[in-house]
Amino acid sequence: MPETTIPSETARSSFLRVTCPDCGAKRILFSHADTRATCDVCGAHLATPTGGRLALRKEVESVEVLH
Ligand SMILES: [Zn+2]
Repeated sequence: MPETTIPSETARSSFLRVTCPDCGAKRILFSHADTRATCDVCGAHLATPTGGRLALRKEVESVEVLH
């Protein structure tokens, strides 16, 4: 049986592709960023740093992108 390595949710940081709920612009955010994330286009607040993982605003759609 082949062994597969599944990255642990807490061990590795990742990138999140998010869509701004206000203007629809797409951004890539670092999952463990320590600064507030805002939309480049309209300046809407997208995510808040929590000291660990970013807390996305609940309206923000995100897709996890591992690198
Ligand atoms: Zn926006």
